[in-house]
Amino acid sequence: MRDVCVIGSGAAGAVAAAVLAEAGWDVLVLEQGEHVPPGTHLHDLIPGYETARARDLDGGWTEEGYPWTACCVGGGTRFYAGVSLRLRRVDFDATAHCAAEALPPAWPFGYDDLRPHYDWVERRLGVTSDGGLDPTRPSPPLDLLPPHRPSARGAALVAAGRALGRTPFPMPLAVASAPFAGAPACADLTTCTDFACPSGAKGDVHHRLLAPLADRIEVRTGCKAVRLVEDRPGRVAAVECLDVATGARELVRARHFVVAANAIQSAALLLRSRSAHSPDGLGNGRGVVGRGLCMKVGQNLTAHLDHDLDEIPAPKGGRYVTVAFTDNYLDQHCPSGLGGLVLETGPLDPADIADRRVLRLECLVADQPVAENRVTLDWSTVDAYGLPRLVLDYRPHPLDLKRLDYLRDRATEVLTRAGAARVDPEPMDFSLGSGHLHGTCRMGTDPATSVCDPQGRVHGVVNVRVADGALMPYPGAVNPALTIQALAHRVATLLLHEETAAGTIPE
Ligand SMILES: Cc1cc2nc3c(=O)[nH]c(=O)nc-3n(C[C@H](O)[C@H](O)[C@H](O)COP(=O)(O)OP(=O)(O)OC[C@H]3O[C@@H](n4cnc5c(N)ncnc54)[C@H](O)[C@@H]3O)c2cc1C
Repeated sequence: MRDVCVIGSGAAGAVAAAVLAEAGWDVLVLEQGEHVPPGTHLHDLIPGYETARARDLDGGWTEEGYPWTACCVGGGTRFYAGVSLRLRRVDFDATAHCAAEALPPAWPFGYDDLRPHYDWVERRLGVTSDGGLDPTRPSPPLDLLPPHRPSARGAALVAAGRALGRTPFPMPLAVASAPFAGAPACADLTTCTDFACPSGAKGDVHHRLLAPLADRIEVRTGCKAVRLVEDRPGRVAAVECLDVATGARELVRARHFVVAANAIQSAALLLRSRSAHSPDGLGNGRGVVGRGLCMKVGQNLTAHLDHDLDEIPAPKGGRYVTVAFTDNYLDQHCPSGLGGLVLETGPLDPADIADRRVLRLECLVADQPVAENRVTLDWSTVDAYGLPRLVLDYRPHPLDLKRLDYLRDRATEVLTRAGAARVDPEPMDFSLGSGHLHGTCRMGTDPATSVCDPQGRVHGVVNVRVADGALMPYPGAVNPALTIQALAHRVATLLLHEETAAGTIPE
């Protein structure tokens, strides 16, 4: 029997697997997707992904919901932009900024508890410094790698922001700015976002954790976890999994299970795990699994300048984000006093990449957790694997949309100052699924409003832990991967503590 079976090889699963394998545990990782070759574009994989039923922003239903970040070894990190921001202190208790009907947004611990876990992840991935310039960063940067130079577009945003009295800063990226851990510095070969890095400069979990530990971590690909099987109330003996190529099913036994399949798929797995002991799904005795789904509320703005950029943009796009603003993160003029993050986003359309008059900014605000926003299963219809269809029932809260309006105005000011003749808000589609998934197996001390305890263990189930963004009671407004990875490190480290009472965080 394995010591631990980790479900999902993405941002969270790879971190948990690495911690446990380095402590000498026999680790098996189940991964539904396959390895992706360097240079692969995400859009070449998406047609093979299962969809979900989801609400569009008008409240109607579509079958084209997207319940993934990416389905492959390394998960979303293979295709991410590498943005590696820490949550702000306010994000650990945003109660004063949420509507009365929100689920309790306070985390069961604060920033200082998560800080050493952030440190571990930044050291292992190789996160670049913000130069100490991010005005709301909760603790000083580690300064492992120098900040990236702003892109041509980023330089224009820095100049405009400073002219308005704002404090732009270099975005911390898990993209090497100098040779790191055997990887070369980024040479702008593709855009970071949407492409699997051709050189290994991007600190995805495949390059930084799974490949270096290949002799200690077995990753079984093409293997979908279907349900966790209890042998007695409160203890799981095995996970039933399905070979996605043949449809064959088998049971994999382990002493412990770590669920890290992304906040939508992790909730779906618990909901599918119905048994005589848990008729509504594992850990779902109080009906909380799947509730509190948060996908952020965000919008991109494209500006068309009245002049050419001073510098020429990188021909293939290069780093997607080099500059960000947190001036309006806490802002008394913003509805509820909490704004969000404004960040450069490079154009993705090849024609726009070459266009010296195009600038883009993204605005991100946290969406407050509400019980009605949820992942459910429709047991009356099945997908290609014969499993109940996944449903994303999500509507943005009106207060969060007002906060987005406010932040969009602040971002438009920067673009206008940079010389925008026109600013076009891009269509919003975050209710269909998003790269930012949180909240569906929320942590807390009260089983009436949470699924997992503060250690990530499913309430009432001794050997199952959730380790991904599903744990987050409140998402914060920054990109999630670094926090998800810090959480996974914390969950795995506490599991080790519990088993060995040794009690140190592996370096
Ligand atoms: C294009 C893009 C750009 C992004 N850029 C950024 C960024 O710059 N910064 C940032 O912070 N975030 C970014 N994100 C989001 C980031 O990738 C995710 O937040 C992060 O990967 C989530 O980690 P996770 O471990 O929860 O899920 P994932 O990384 O998605 O990993 C989950 C894994 O579990 C597997 N899985 C799912 N269900 C099952 C099952 N039943 N059985 C077996 N395996 C299963 C999936 O195939 C997947 O590999 C981006 C995402 C995308 C798609």
